[in-house]
Formats: sequence, structure tokens, C-alpha cells
Amino acid sequence: MNNRECRFGNALSFSFDIKHAESDSLARVGTINTPHGPIQTPAFIPVGTKATVKSVLPEAMADLGAQALLSNAYHLYLQPGSDILDEAGGLGEFMNWPGPTFTDSGGFQVLSLGVGFKKVLAMDAQTFRRDDVIAGNKDRLAHVDDEGVTFKSHLDGSMHRFTPEVSMQVQHQIGADIMFAFDECTTLHNTRPYQELAMDRTYAWAIRCLDEHKKLTQERVGKPYQALFGVIQGAQYEDLRKKAATDLGSLESNGQAFDGFGIGGALDKGQLGTIVSWVNEILPEDKPRHLLGIGAPEDLFVGVENGCDTFDCVLASRIARTSAVYTMEGRFNLSNSRFKRDFTSIDDECDCYTCTHYTRAYMHHVFRGKEIISATLATIHNERFIVRLVDQMRQALLDGNFADMKADFLGRYTHRSGQARD
Ligand SMILES: [Zn+2]
Repeated sequence: MNNRECRFGNALSFSFDIKHAESDSLARVGTINTPHGPIQTPAFIPVGTKATVKSVLPEAMADLGAQALLSNAYHLYLQPGSDILDEAGGLGEFMNWPGPTFTDSGGFQVLSLGVGFKKVLAMDAQTFRRDDVIAGNKDRLAHVDDEGVTFKSHLDGSMHRFTPEVSMQVQHQIGADIMFAFDECTTLHNTRPYQELAMDRTYAWAIRCLDEHKKLTQERVGKPYQALFGVIQGAQYEDLRKKAATDLGSLESNGQAFDGFGIGGALDKGQLGTIVSWVNEILPEDKPRHLLGIGAPEDLFVGVENGCDTFDCVLASRIARTSAVYTMEGRFNLSNSRFKRDFTSIDDECDCYTCTHYTRAYMHHVFRGKEIISATLATIHNERFIVRLVDQMRQALLDGNFADMKADFLGRYTHRSGQARD
């Protein structure tokens, strides 16, 4: 639908084609085309924070159906350094992943790791709200001003500064196909005046990101085009979310507009669908929308039916390493002693490598024995479960039975879990 020829890099660079749109909801099916291949949407994008999905080979990620991977600009900037990735030929080349890649801008990480608020942002909006709660009695490791964020590395305590320009420079060096604009991520605990301030700042930073992105695209001749997504903030406030979607959706600076959008920030889980629909009813229809840090099964249905095209979440792999697995019957822990003599697969409907070769009893054994393979096998299963679930949603949309598929799944699946970015 929106074929955008790259003016400076390789031939066809980035486009989004919508194949099908629901008439009674915001859901749609499409294809995001990137220089490293297409992504059929809706799609779940597994997270490889530091240029690796922990414990799993890239070939196994491809085998389980991952179409793209998302890494983190903040972590890669600190280690090994974005210049190293640039010299290596970019993120995909560096980590032996030939497909499309995304990078998160670092906005969330400099604040979450620096200020010390919890990584899990889904929280109860009714709890008390004040701006200093995020610092608590911890050392405040990040300081935000209108120009950018000064922060202390969580690795060695060294001081760094991210501005919109630095984030763009870092993300261009990393070389992912899809990047995000540098934003100030708030929590549900921040006051309304602070949310307004952060949103104004995010808008001013968005313009600076577009300008720097355009400059770098022109300078870095011969590199594949990197698409830039603007990030919609506004917490749980309808007017703020709608204003952000209106302002960023139509923003153009020196002829450069966003190629797509990320919906970020504090998302009150109980209101997820409402918040996402406020935004997606306003954002340009012909550009892809990514819901940042959302990946629990029940939330993915809400995201898809409210018009989100891609999702990422670190939970699938993070909980796998603690022996927690998703199944059609809900989530459980393989280290539980009830699995000691259970010679069935983790999920008898799952077609992953783990489920077709191993039993719950074996998984219980390797978790109890703290064998490294436990992380690998459980991660393969969980990533496959989530990737496949969103693939099934895409197929159900094409087949015209999304509502039935959703009712069937949620009728069986009961466990609820939160939002998480790494
Ligand atoms: Zn499986």
C-alpha cells in the first residue's frame, strides 16, 4: 500500500502492504517488507536483547518460525559498542541472523535501568502516584532534561549521555531494519503534569530523531534503508494518547516522516485494548504499528484486534529460564515435582523441537539438575508457543474466524502475566 523507495540506499527498502482489514475491528493482516526480508503480520518478534536470544541458536529461532528479532540499542551501545556492530556489517550479520531486525531506542532502558523502576510496567493504575516514587531510596542513576538523559552504566558505573541524536547515531551503527525514536518512558506512578511534560519532550525529541535520521541516511551511502518508528506515549490518559497519535502520526520534518509507530509507555493492563484503540484509530492506516513490550497470550489478542501489527516481549524467554512454560492449558513450572514421572510432552498440541523430542519428566530432570540445556529447550518451546499463537491469529483473520479462535483459546488458557521489556 505504501511503497517507499529508498532514495539513498539499496533499491526497494521499506514498505507495508495490507492484505486484509476486518470491518468490525481494527485488526488487519499485512506484510512489512524490509531490506532483510518480509514480515507477515500480525507477528510476534522474539527479543535478543544483546544480539542473542539467550541460550538458543539463530537457526533454531528460524525453525520455530521467528520472522525477525529485536535487540536493544542501550545494551549494545554499552557492550560491545555500536561501532563494533557497524564494523561487523550490522546487527544481523554480527549475530548470524539473516532476517529482519529491530532495535529499541534505549529510551526505556536508560530510564528503567538508570532510575530503577521495575521492568514490569503493567501495574495497577489505582495505586498512589507521585514522580519521585521511581527513585525511591535507591541511587538515582539517570537524570532527564530537555536535551536528553544522563545515566550511569549498570555494568561499570561509567557516565553516559543519550540524546535523540546519539540514539539515532547508535541505532544507525547497529543497523537494524526497524528502529524506534528516542522517547521518555514514564510509569503509571508519574503525576499527570509530569506525563504532559514527558509527552512534550518526546514530541520535541521525535523531530530531532527525524532530522538526525535523515542526515545519517544521506551520509551513510550504500547502507540498506533503516525505517524509523515514532513512539506514542501518554500513559492511561485518553487526551494525551490521542494528542500523541495525532501529532506524531502527521509529523513531518524536512520532508521526513515516520515509517511506522510504536505504542509504548505505561500501559494499564486492564485498559490495554481501550488505550491501543484510542491510538490506532488516529494513526495513519497505511503504516505499521508495534506494541512495545507486550507478549502475554491474552494481551496479544487484545493488541491484534485493536490494530497492532507487531509485538515484542522478553517474557517468553525470561520465564523459560525459570522453568515456566506456556501451554494450551495455561502456564506452569516444569520444576514442580508432579512432573517427575510425566512422560508426556510439555504441550501435546505444540509442534516445536522440544515437544516433539522430550518429555516433561526430562525437562523436570534438567531443570532440577541445573543443566544448561533446560534453558535452551524451554525457550524454544515458549517462543514457538507465542510465535505460533500470533501466526494462528493471522490465519484466523484471513479465514474470517478470529472471534471463534479467540474464544476457544481464552476458554482454555487461564494464566495471566504482565508486560516486560528488557
Ligand atoms: Zn513445544
